[in-house]
Amino acid sequence: MDARTGDLLELLGKVLALEVRKGCRDTAVSGGLAAFVARQIQAQPRAERLADLVPLLQDYGNLDHDERRRRVERVQAALGPSTPAPLRSTQAPAPLPAVAPGTPNGRGYAAVKAQATAPPAAPRPARRARKVQLRSLQDPVTILPGVGTGRAEQLAALGVTTVEDLIYLVPRRHKDYAAIQPIGSVLFQRECTVKGEVVAIDQEHTRTGKTMVTAEIGDATGRIRAVWFNPYLARQLHVGMPIAVSGRVEQQRGILCFRGPEWEPLDDDLLHTGRIVPIYPLTRNLYQKQVRALTRLALDAGLPLIGDPLPESVRARHDLLPLAQALDWAHFPDSADAQAAARQRLVFDEFLVLQIGLVRRKVEWQAEQGHAFAVNERLLAAFEDALPFALTAAQSRALGEILADMASPRPMSRLLQGDVGSGKTVVAAAAALAALSDGHQTALLAPTEILAEQHLRNLTRLFDALPAHVRPRVALLTGGTPGAERAALAQALAAGAVDVLVGTHAILEERVEFARLGLAVIDEQHRFGVEQRGRLRGKGNNPDVLVMTATPIPRSLALVLHGDLDVSTIDELPPGRQPIRTAAISGDQRAEAYRFLRRQVDQGRQAFVIYPLVEESEAIDARAATQEYERLSADVFPDLRLGLLHGRMRPSEKDAVMASFRDHEIDILVSTSVVEVGIDVPNATVMLIEGAERFGLSQLHQFRGRVGRGEHRSHCILLADEVGDQGQRRLDALVETQDGFQLAEIDLELRGPGEFFGTRQSGLPDLKFASFGDLPTLQRARDEAHRILELDRGLERPEHRELRARVDRFWRSSTSDVS
Ligand code: ADP
Ligand code: MG
Repeated sequence: MDARTGDLLELLGKVLALEVRKGCRDTAVSGGLAAFVARQIQAQPRAERLADLVPLLQDYGNLDHDERRRRVERVQAALGPSTPAPLRSTQAPAPLPAVAPGTPNGRGYAAVKAQATAPPAAPRPARRARKVQLRSLQDPVTILPGVGTGRAEQLAALGVTTVEDLIYLVPRRHKDYAAIQPIGSVLFQRECTVKGEVVAIDQEHTRTGKTMVTAEIGDATGRIRAVWFNPYLARQLHVGMPIAVSGRVEQQRGILCFRGPEWEPLDDDLLHTGRIVPIYPLTRNLYQKQVRALTRLALDAGLPLIGDPLPESVRARHDLLPLAQALDWAHFPDSADAQAAARQRLVFDEFLVLQIGLVRRKVEWQAEQGHAFAVNERLLAAFEDALPFALTAAQSRALGEILADMASPRPMSRLLQGDVGSGKTVVAAAAALAALSDGHQTALLAPTEILAEQHLRNLTRLFDALPAHVRPRVALLTGGTPGAERAALAQALAAGAVDVLVGTHAILEERVEFARLGLAVIDEQHRFGVEQRGRLRGKGNNPDVLVMTATPIPRSLALVLHGDLDVSTIDELPPGRQPIRTAAISGDQRAEAYRFLRRQVDQGRQAFVIYPLVEESEAIDARAATQEYERLSADVFPDLRLGLLHGRMRPSEKDAVMASFRDHEIDILVSTSVVEVGIDVPNATVMLIEGAERFGLSQLHQFRGRVGRGEHRSHCILLADEVGDQGQRRLDALVETQDGFQLAEIDLELRGPGEFFGTRQSGLPDLKFASFGDLPTLQRARDEAHRILELDRGLERPEHRELRARVDRFWRSSTSDVS
């Protein structure tokens, strides 16, 4: 319970007491009791448990006196005593009627005490007797006692069909019930375990038709009640039974009690109470207790058969548990440390198997013979000298890494990542020049026609600084290239008369043949599938491949998502860039934002207005954007030239709209999030984003990168209503920093593990254990993968047999192959 909830309880307690003192005439607070209580509870987000009280007071002002009094009492009872300070249960229970009186100090308790103080017993004697003999870990779960077809179906719904699946059924989380409390000292609203003896049992039917079973449990220090709404318990419990109960201590009618706690007989080894207890994913009619019992059985039966994929030397190097121990503790840890160590081992294995797949792919690709370029350094130096600016340190470093790859006979497989405007194109241009200086051609692939055109223009401009006799001949090939031109181009290309071919997917067509393709540059790799990368490679004799992306991700994460690539990062912008003024505003300032847009357009500038994805469906979003476009055209900017862009338009239509925006035939471009990554419109100075709270941080940063491309000061306006905590932090981060890498880090932290390892997108197999905090482990696993593959590329040594089986299995489960 946090302090604010405590204060709230106290306040409500006082108000209710006052209401009773004043005779339940609804005069305790102005505005009425019901409204007051509802307001207080709503204002306190952590008080969700109290929300149930609100209906109790519904219509309070119109009830008769007696009913009012009853309602107030019920609320009071539910709230507990008016002081929320921890209570001692010894204040509490009157013995329950109609059951044999218990003897808290009798035989039962002695047994409990003996057990409680005994050293950790030899493990699980009770279960040993039930131990199952397995033939293999692949045995179906039905081999376990108590698993028939019905239970097997429920387990199958969780993806569990074999004993091994059950062993790898990861608990969602654990609950720490390890703290064992003498009953006399349990504290209100704390989670704890008590051990004692059942001293009384009662059963009653509630007005709502449920059966409520109440047990009173005693030890030497006191008694406490436990209540369950489950009729079966009346049969399972009996007076005198030693029992352990775990749960949160609550109140009922002013008396401390457990409500629906975990429990189990004390003669068993504890699975559900008195320890750190696993909480599993469930399906219909499957309960925690059943899953726990089954995983325990599966572990006992299966762990002796489990092979350890990590040789002892590797485990020692990384201070890792043996696998069987890790799996046991992943379910039933003896301590928080054990739990952490178990996780560490499982995360390492997962990363290792992932990295072995990726690194092996890279090693195999690089084992092929590529071309070792003899680069003409003088020509490159001349190119750099001719540029109107000096390369940044980060550009030089990246270029150095690329040139070193090119000089080596191993085919390059490199990712060049850098924020929008960091100057990747110049680096790619220099690499193309290096290829040309050794007589090779370059292909540059862009995801859309308009981006291809932009690359063509930029490259031409950059190369123009060179003397004509060494200037690369650049050509463009897109879907829109007319047939005759295309034929001429194909001929020139095959004859080696084109040095750099810029284009779209059209480049990948079979008819397109290069004389000597040496370098392939792919812009915005996430739009290119694996297969296309492969096809591009097939067009040359293992050409070097450079992939460029403006979606920066932390280096550690790049290793996961692009583990088969080496990574170069341009992490600084050219000097003198003006920061883009960024403001987060709410909907009531929209009119002001529109006025600002208009002033910019009056000064000859252009603006983007982005509408968020409101639905999963592109069609609905397109309609929403269209409506907004119409509204803005008719009501807000009737005198300006507006354009519309959305995902339902054909690529050629989209290109046409982008082109007329670029050519300043449009003042304001209204768009869904499909607006091109990478398009340059230097005259655009305002990026207005509606529903900014709905976008991810990286995406917002991408949008912002669409402005500030020219000499004019640029602005990004984030319009957001109803921003949650997370949303607010995203917007704050965006206002505070322009650094894409820093934003990417924040984004990943905010979004947490589920989403960014969301591998469906990346084409990688699912990771079960790993999360954001584990990224340092990733680097170690990657190093280890390199070490192992250097020794034993095919994982053929006997000590790697188990590892190899796991690598194969993991990568088979991959939905799409990334090689
Ligand atoms: P990116 O492709 O990484 O988004 P570009 O290569 O398109 O970035 O570069 C953005 C702009 O910055 C271009 O106009 C380019 O000429 C310019 N530029 C690149 N490198 C530098 C530099 N070192 N100093 C100044 N301007 C640069
Ligand atoms: Mg670019």
